[in-house]
Amino acid sequence: MTLTEAINNFLRYSGCKELKITTALIDCDGVLFDTMKNHTRAWVRLMQKNGIKCTRDEFYLYEGMTGVEIVKKKFKDGVGKNLTDDEARALYSVKGRYFLELGETGKIPHIDDVLKTLKDAGVERIVVTGSQQPSVLNRIDKEFEGLLSEKRVTGDDVKRGKPNPEPYLKGVELAGVPAAQCMVIENAPLGVQAAHAAGCFTVAVTTGPISEKEMYKAGADIVFHDMNELAMALPEMIHHN
Ligand code: CA
Repeated sequence: MTLTEAINNFLRYSGCKELKITTALIDCDGVLFDTMKNHTRAWVRLMQKNGIKCTRDEFYLYEGMTGVEIVKKKFKDGVGKNLTDDEARALYSVKGRYFLELGETGKIPHIDDVLKTLKDAGVERIVVTGSQQPSVLNRIDKEFEGLLSEKRVTGDDVKRGKPNPEPYLKGVELAGVPAAQCMVIENAPLGVQAAHAAGCFTVAVTTGPISEKEMYKAGADIVFHDMNELAMALPEMIHHN
């Protein structure tokens, strides 16, 4: 799909006359930071310790749910155990420790170019993540100083994580503009579903093993293969009439 086709599609189903992007709602893991490899490793270690069968790839499909939701789902599906919030939170903090032990990962290549292009065009940049991982959240301010708004939605701010639209609806509310003026940058199918359901122009970037086809199936308006491709396409998206 070309960008022009994607924009025309969006205008058709949203009923808007023009695409007027004033805000970018930006996911964290797999969009800002190349953290997914270590998240999936840490999840597998936690599950193996608790005798729950899993594969690494399945955690890419849960990406976007809050940590507590993922723990509860795996214990229920895996061993038929309904965990309390406190039990799930305790297990999630063990996963957080495993994640820390794997060391820091870098930024997603060319994400700075994306953020600078948005900033120069006067588009507000708000992080919307299901993560409740302090080690990752604390890095955002340090490593993206001046590139992101102080407004933020994390896994601690929502009752229901992605694919529920709640995180992105909260982001739209923080932005104070209509959802159709918000562009979402996502890398995971559940995040794409949430963004689409919230009524935002949804951009997916395939920074992990999930295919372009899966992203379109989840409701992406347009899919890019890397952040450089997205950065190059931004001017047309932002200034489209
Ligand atoms: Ca993500």
